[in-house]
Amino acid sequence: MTAPHLSRDELKALVRTVPDFPHAGIQFRDITTLIGHHQGMAASVRHLAELADAVGADKIAGMEARGFIFGAAVAVQLGVGFVPVRKPGKLPIETIGIDYALEYGTDRLEMDPGAIEPGQNVVMVDDLIATGGTALASAELLRKAGALVSHALFVIDLPDLGGASRLRAAGVTVDALMAFDGD
Ligand code: AMP
Repeated sequence: MTAPHLSRDELKALVRTVPDFPHAGIQFRDITTLIGHHQGMAASVRHLAELADAVGADKIAGMEARGFIFGAAVAVQLGVGFVPVRKPGKLPIETIGIDYALEYGTDRLEMDPGAIEPGQNVVMVDDLIATGGTALASAELLRKAGALVSHALFVIDLPDLGGASRLRAAGVTVDALMAFDGD
């Protein structure tokens, strides 16, 4: 049952690119085809878990929704807890939250204020970093909850959109399994 460890180039070939979704000019990097491939999913999680292990993650945080797919699996592989960073109004408790700017308008992320013990090393996991807005807001929210956030892991980086540089400027080191040029 052990999956062979596919290389990062082999994983990149499993990502489907859909032009002009959700808007004209956007190249949507669709992980549906990667996670639907057993060895692709298993190897993506193993690569991410190796990176999280190397930096001594106490917990993994994943951003709704696609960050849940990879983040939860990485947490299980490492034997640590998983913290969901949620869209507003989903948690049945009093939450802490953060509002952040989008290209048009604002959005909000929320989490359980008791999910992290003060000083725990929390590694963020998401499928893709574009402008970095989501990841930056998540890092700020996790820090508000008492986490040390110094690493973020992504399956896909779109370096031309500058997200990884923005995160680095906020003290968060970024690793990704693959990069695509353009947006
Ligand atoms: P950002 O906050 O700009 O870094 O955007 C990050 C989120 O938007 C990621 O969690 C992705 O799920 C989604 N996203 C942004 N751009 C793309 C793209 N070109 N293809 C697929 N997903 C994208």
